[in-house]
Amino acid sequence: MKKDQPSAGRRSLLRAAAALGATATVGLLAVEGVGRSPRPSAAGTAQATGAAPAGAPSASAAAPSASASAAADGAAGPEAVPLAGSPVNATAYRLRPMTSYAPSAVRRVLPPVRSRPFLKLSGAGRAMVLTFDDGPDPRYTPGILKTLRKYDVPAMFFICGEMADAHRGLLREMADDGHVVGNHTWSHPLIPSLPPSRIRDEMGRTSEVVDRELGSAPLWYRAPFGAWNKHSFEIGAELGMEPLAWTVDTLDWTEPGTGTIVRRVREGAGPGVVVLSHDAGGDRSQSVAALRSYLPWLLDQGYRITVPRR
Ligand SMILES: [Zn+2]
Repeated sequence: MKKDQPSAGRRSLLRAAAALGATATVGLLAVEGVGRSPRPSAAGTAQATGAAPAGAPSASAAAPSASASAAADGAAGPEAVPLAGSPVNATAYRLRPMTSYAPSAVRRVLPPVRSRPFLKLSGAGRAMVLTFDDGPDPRYTPGILKTLRKYDVPAMFFICGEMADAHRGLLREMADDGHVVGNHTWSHPLIPSLPPSRIRDEMGRTSEVVDRELGSAPLWYRAPFGAWNKHSFEIGAELGMEPLAWTVDTLDWTEPGTGTIVRRVREGAGPGVVVLSHDAGGDRSQSVAALRSYLPWLLDQGYRITVPRR
């Protein structure tokens, strides 16, 4: 996808994603009980760093699209999957026959193949996750980073490989500031429209550029347009990543006005909520401005801004 593609084009792709059926629409998805944790937790949830004690509230947030309510109760969330402590052989993947990238050194405990993405955090207490997709973009990412730095909070950036490749300094800046860099494919395609080989290429190349630049490959990925399919779950797991969707969509890409973005975050705020915004893909000045408003508000409300734990 061209990063400056008009939002109309993006809308039509979104419609296309929706037309593919429920499985392509994150709003209808919930993580089922595929987690390996013996401890029951809310469905569609991931663990937060520094998680609050078990029993933290897991009420669904007031997502504008009624999405979170689709989460089934009683399913298990994933346990924190530790990185294996073995030494890293950063060039191991280069020895693999042609094709696909594998996470630098097959050093990870690979996650299970999910059938749905995570929608929120569990056991996070009054914590929320802020996520920014499609970047890095030198026009907007620095503004997002500046605000996050001002309040000293971590966030997640689901980057596109082609953007990261072109703006490596910003990629490093994200990591240097302690943010989590996730995989959002190379060129932002509609995944269900691609053959598995192309999906692997889109995701693998992106993990590779992050690995090369930051020294470790992403642990999380997010499908463009929230359009996941079986192959993307399989390939994501092969690459050592867990799928993370969101709870609250700010719809900032429609450029609804800074005030509207702020209102959506405030109204959707809740324990474990994952907020979706964008730092690239069009004019994101409203997203940058909105963060400056809702972030201090969230903190004033007692929310801790965190990132999920693996
Ligand atoms: Zn995106």
